[in-house]
Amino acid sequence: MNPFAHYDTVIVGGGPAGLTAALALTRYRHRTLVVESPAPPRNHASRGVHGMIGLEGATPAEVRARAWAELDAYGLAEHRAAAAEDVTLAADGGFHLTFDDGSAAWGRTVLLATGVVDIHPVDVDGFAACWGRTVIHCPFCVGWENAGRTWGVVADNPAYAATAAGAFSAWSADVIAIAPPGMERAAETRQALRAAGSDLVEGEIVRLHHRAGDLHTVELADGTLLARQTLLWSPPQQQVPLVTRLTTTLGLALNEDGFLTVGADRQTNVPGLYAAGDLTTQWEQGAMNAAGAGAAAADAIHFARTL
Ligand SMILES: Cc1cc2nc3c(=O)[nH]c(=O)nc-3n(C[C@H](O)[C@H](O)[C@H](O)COP(=O)(O)OP(=O)(O)OC[C@H]3O[C@@H](n4cnc5c(N)ncnc54)[C@H](O)[C@@H]3O)c2cc1C
Repeated sequence: MNPFAHYDTVIVGGGPAGLTAALALTRYRHRTLVVESPAPPRNHASRGVHGMIGLEGATPAEVRARAWAELDAYGLAEHRAAAAEDVTLAADGGFHLTFDDGSAAWGRTVLLATGVVDIHPVDVDGFAACWGRTVIHCPFCVGWENAGRTWGVVADNPAYAATAAGAFSAWSADVIAIAPPGMERAAETRQALRAAGSDLVEGEIVRLHHRAGDLHTVELADGTLLARQTLLWSPPQQQVPLVTRLTTTLGLALNEDGFLTVGADRQTNVPGLYAAGDLTTQWEQGAMNAAGAGAAAADAIHFARTL
């Protein structure tokens, strides 16, 4: 392959946002390269992606394989299994991209669809085994699969902890909040939760006892054992290294929560550089949202070129 091949659009990231954009751009007859890191994607622990109409419950690998079969049928989008290491402004317009397999490419426009990285608590024994199954980051994704079980909501602030009794009642009638020691307003939050038939327990989670990923007990640093079958635990997130680098080298703008800022056309503050999917939003994450954002970005890229 010509390492300096030219593309109308280079898409970095082959999840729902990137692949949906690739399909739309292909149908608009753009020459597109999708660069997808061979590392497992963020949702690889998922046993089935839910809320995706037409693909309900398909595994992340099945979703991607199906998407590539559809793209390959058009024969216009290329797939490169590599990580993009850098994106720079080309002297004659467009962008130069370099990849970790030593290759490079030029794109008239670039779409960043790199998702986000969950920062897992590395020192909690059992977290990895339960993650995606009984330790869940989002009730909309796998709440159904955890319905009727005893839940703990890991909360580090009183406003969130206070929602434990009500917000997740669609899935469980037995929900408590688990907060770090010393959380502000803990006493009044506990009182309010108890009045609603719930509770607040303060303590540092050190171990999750489980059978093959099926959680049954949460152990705190002081030795307290909580009988819980499901933990709703949304770890903090960060941008992938490439995006973090571009905030310095290209001045790519993030909002105060660390997500990329884009306009209604999904263009970042760097003209010609677009972004779609989880990397742009804290509260509207999810496979369908990302796919929708990818489609919107493709439309904007197409019209920016033709109008
Ligand atoms: C355990 C788990 C279960 C989930 N279950 C559901 C569910 O049931 N329903 C639902 O709607 N949502 C679910 N989600 C959320 C959903 O997976 C994401 O919201 C969605 O995948 C976001 O799509 P995206 O395209 O923005 O990013 P991603 O799907 O994260 O894709 C980004 C891709 O970019 C690649 N990448 C990153 N950096 C580079 C680089 N430098 N070069 C090349 N490639 C790069 C990554 O490897 C990744 O494959 C789940 C998430 C997790 C963690």
